[in-house]
Amino acid sequence: MLDLTRALTFRREANFIDGQWVGASGSRTMEVTNPATGDIIGTIPVAGKAETEAAIAAAHKAFPAWAGLLAQERATKLNAMAQLIRDNVEALAELLTLEQGKPLAEARGEVLSGAAYVQWFAEEARRVYGDVIPSPFPGRRLLVTKEPVGVVGAITPWNFPFSMLARKVGAALAAGCTVVAKPSEFTPYSGLAWGVLAEKAGIPAGVVNIVTGDAPAIGEAMTGSDVVRKITFTGSTRVGKLLAEASARTMKRFSMELGGNAPFIVFDDADLDAAVEGAMMAKYRNSGQTCICTNRFYVQQGIYEAFAAKLAEKVKTLKVGSGFEAGSLQGPLINDAALAKVETLVGDATAKGGKVVAGGKLHALGGTFYEPTLITGGRQDMRIAREEVFGPVAVLFPFETEAQAIEMANATEFGLAAYFYSKDLARAFRVSAALKYGMVGINAGIITTEVAPFGGVKDSGVGREGSKYGLDDYLDVKYLSIGGL
Ligand code: NAP
Repeated sequence: MLDLTRALTFRREANFIDGQWVGASGSRTMEVTNPATGDIIGTIPVAGKAETEAAIAAAHKAFPAWAGLLAQERATKLNAMAQLIRDNVEALAELLTLEQGKPLAEARGEVLSGAAYVQWFAEEARRVYGDVIPSPFPGRRLLVTKEPVGVVGAITPWNFPFSMLARKVGAALAAGCTVVAKPSEFTPYSGLAWGVLAEKAGIPAGVVNIVTGDAPAIGEAMTGSDVVRKITFTGSTRVGKLLAEASARTMKRFSMELGGNAPFIVFDDADLDAAVEGAMMAKYRNSGQTCICTNRFYVQQGIYEAFAAKLAEKVKTLKVGSGFEAGSLQGPLINDAALAKVETLVGDATAKGGKVVAGGKLHALGGTFYEPTLITGGRQDMRIAREEVFGPVAVLFPFETEAQAIEMANATEFGLAAYFYSKDLARAFRVSAALKYGMVGINAGIITTEVAPFGGVKDSGVGREGSKYGLDDYLDVKYLSIGGL
């Protein structure tokens, strides 16, 4: 029997507004389920326009004092928050696995990555430097300073419900902004946990506010508000575009971390074992439900058979089961819609000649557990060549020349992450320059770290999270022209 005592110390079935835990008006609630069992694990308020406006008002009220603190004072509070996360890693990881389904080891990794982002931004808070520009006018000094943009609306998805908020809350608070956050209805507790962390770390009331519920109503209240000066969103391209359009009405800043369709190219000269290892990490983490997951493997003819055989062998060893089960490496998909999408795309690929060499169907555990799958003989007219599968399905597409691989890799409206394996240094520079992506893993299947800029181009979004660039997205540049000197 699963002991959830520790996890439930962080579960809040209320919204966090102005430092108070409150329900929605009319006490409207919705249920949250465990994707591994279908069991209800609690309820959350169905907040809408009124609750979001109250949260925005609280963030607005809290802004001057928070922005007015010394950078060091904000950093001290953020460091306390990072330490609290590390001190409670087990509880937070269990809560995450409970509502999201990923294996506990991956959940622990996500929580610790959240702590790393917060600590990184605490350190960066002290390095928000300006500039002195050599003046073209006599008797003048030209200065550039940076100021927090103001109240930030943050909307996050269900696949990394803890760390996606860490990147946003950490950066916003470090810059001196206050936040109204909306986690996904599927994984709200890992988002609401940020309210508990804010309370425990002594972050003043109103600096962090969290609402759950009616996504379109909350989004409209955020985008329609004059007070909210920035929207930061991670999720689908469809919703990102809606929010960007709506934000234009009040000319807000926005950062959009959207969908991906990552190619993974294996050249004949690649280290085969390293490429297989990298492929496993880039594809099957979180059961394939990450935005930088490889969707398409392009494998050169000379190495194709060997790569396919080795990868199939590895894929068959992946243990599927509840995230709480020891040794489980593949949890359930988030919900029935996700399962239906995977089944449809696999059906389309096999109908167009793809050959299933591992998995290929619903797992014997039932529910939304899907077998880790490998399909060979991919073709560019398959839907999976263009659409994000968001499941544990890899498709191998053969190619002959470097130019062909680059053309196929770039043949998508997305541009988030790309990967390739090759031992040829000149090719490494050539191919990385030719790939139209925001991030490129070269002989590396895992690329995310708080110290590097995460983000995409084209339909994968705008803006960067993490690194020194991540803070700029929360700062306005102000130019001072000082005369009479
Ligand atoms: P989604 O449907 O776009 O949802 C993301 C968030 O937006 C959720 O909190 C959702 O709320 C909310 N939302 C939905 N409709 C909205 C609306 N009209 N107005 C305001 N908010 C709205 O995406 P998802 O299915 O959760 O996440 C998967 C997608 O996210 C994939 O495409 C993946 O590639 C992308 N992703 C990108 C990154 C990145 O960094 N680039 C990282 C992770 C995921 P509810 O869930 O409560 O409906």
